[in-house]
Amino acid sequence: MPLFTVQKHKATTLHYDFRLEIDGVLKSWAIPKGPSIDPAVKRLAVQVDDHDLDYATFEGVIEEGQYGAGPVIVWDTGIVNFKSQISDLRSDLKKGRLEFELDGKKLKGAFGLFRLKNQEKNWLLMKKKDAHAGKGGEIVAERPESALSDQTIEGIENLYREGKIKPYRCG
Ligand code: MN
Repeated sequence: MPLFTVQKHKATTLHYDFRLEIDGVLKSWAIPKGPSIDPAVKRLAVQVDDHDLDYATFEGVIEEGQYGAGPVIVWDTGIVNFKSQISDLRSDLKKGRLEFELDGKKLKGAFGLFRLKNQEKNWLLMKKKDAHAGKGGEIVAERPESALSDQTIEGIENLYREGKIKPYRCG
């Protein structure tokens, strides 16, 4: 089963990196406001570079001077079930239409990710109506903690400032 991960990342600006395993890599979108479970809310998701699969569980601090410098936690992770056959996902990506169900610790049920017309990188993430949808509220504010540890972005930042964790060097 392919995996998904959502990393909360405090770089120059705070955002959530939404990543789906497709074709052996993590296809990635940066969502400034983070995902919502309210079907009335659509969230801008800007497609960014693919990441290696082993980055899915990374929590820590990206070293200063590196691209994306700052703390990262795994805000949610689990498995993703695509509506299309795996073999059709490449064409779905080209068409700018992905529909899937998430089974994470926080995000569950049906979601869609749709590229905006005549745009290259700008997509919208939206929750579909189902038993896991919720009205109002912000799940990112209500559940700020890591899905893998009890860490928060602020907790990681403090540990880093106190010299208790070493920075991570990408590539
Ligand atoms: Mn990021």
